[in-house]
Amino acid sequence: MDEIDCAVIGGGVVGLAVARELALAGREVLVLETEGAIGTGTSSRNSEVIHAGIYYPQGSLKAKLCVEGKELLYAYAAERGVPHRRCGKFIVATSPEQAGQLEAIRVKAAANGVDDLVQITAQQAIAMEPQLHCVAALHSPSTGIVDSHALMLSLLGDLENAGGMLALKSPITRAECGDGAIVLVAEDGTALRCRSVINAAGLGAPALASRFEGLAPETIPKAYFAKGNYFTLSGKAPFGRLIYPVPEPGGLGVHLTVDLGGQAKFGPDVQWVASADDLVVDPARGDGFYAEVRKYWPALPDGALIPGYAGMRPKISGPGEPAADFVIDGPESHGVPGLVNLFGIESPGLTSSLAIGRHVARLLAQA
Ligand SMILES: Cc1cc2nc3c(=O)[nH]c(=O)nc-3n(C[C@H](O)[C@H](O)[C@H](O)COP(=O)(O)OP(=O)(O)OC[C@H]3O[C@@H](n4cnc5c(N)ncnc54)[C@H](O)[C@@H]3O)c2cc1C
Repeated sequence: MDEIDCAVIGGGVVGLAVARELALAGREVLVLETEGAIGTGTSSRNSEVIHAGIYYPQGSLKAKLCVEGKELLYAYAAERGVPHRRCGKFIVATSPEQAGQLEAIRVKAAANGVDDLVQITAQQAIAMEPQLHCVAALHSPSTGIVDSHALMLSLLGDLENAGGMLALKSPITRAECGDGAIVLVAEDGTALRCRSVINAAGLGAPALASRFEGLAPETIPKAYFAKGNYFTLSGKAPFGRLIYPVPEPGGLGVHLTVDLGGQAKFGPDVQWVASADDLVVDPARGDGFYAEVRKYWPALPDGALIPGYAGMRPKISGPGEPAADFVIDGPESHGVPGLVNLFGIESPGLTSSLAIGRHVARLLAQA
């Protein structure tokens, strides 16, 4: 049987960031990816926003890893020439009631260590974004955008330079967790004996973990899938910054992001679905976007929204339940030496990826 020190299951941005961190720490690392290329899952179907860390509950992994990950990501992208832009974001209040909520958002962000939010007047906001309608806004200067594919290629380059390897078309179907080793079994029956295994299989992580013999089932959360549909704007982006309405119960509202090519898109919305493969955008969902967008951009022309793409959130809490935190379980949590499971790595997983890499390396070092 082949042997490896450390296997990372999943070649998305999180698996690659974890693998890079472990390889840089001197470990022998192999990334096993089901598809024929890296980053074809959720990592290529998101908003590519470098989040500031504003909304997450204080003390949560999401808050801590987002704030740490944002700083690491800006520094890494600058050093490696990964295209990115610190474009900033406005959270816009379009009614006096919403304006009253801006201070609470600023205070919540400050509790997470995001102390650069500034409340501005409608006049100040409109001076910076002339097409905007609002009664007041919060400016987040440290929100930005990044080319996620360039980031993943750079992480893979670092991994390989440090001696790590990538095996594509290598779906793992199950594992046997024993004393001193975890044996991974691939779809073709190949077995691989590993000292450490990181389950970074994204949407498939809970289902895969349920086929790990020796792992207590009660340590594996139930998986839910929430599709996020995007509608792209035909024509020039009206704003240089990202524009988010004041959050509503259950979501961030229909917001506008831009990519590095200047393409504007609205979304993602939240559509609970039964299957992780359900990635088709229903054009009819765009109808509801117009009224929401016109609250902050009244000039949105009729017919300007085109069905774009959808991404799937790897949820571990269901509809109507409070949003779950990231679950990153090492041996201390589930009792299996050498195993780390990552569950529910939804947004801000891209922003947090480098910090998640460090966190996983620490969990394995403690074991
Ligand atoms: C709509 C949407 C918008 C988002 N916007 C943002 C944003 O703007 N900013 C931000 O910070 N975050 C954002 N996120 C979150 C971010 O995209 C994810 O947190 C991140 O991409 C997760 O990366 P991952 O590597 O864990 O998962 P994935 O990218 O899904 O990678 C998992 C990989 O594992 C592979 N795999 C699965 N099962 C197996 C198996 N059995 N064997 C081998 N390989 C396997 C898959 O093929 C896949 O390549 C968004 C997410 C969504 C859904």
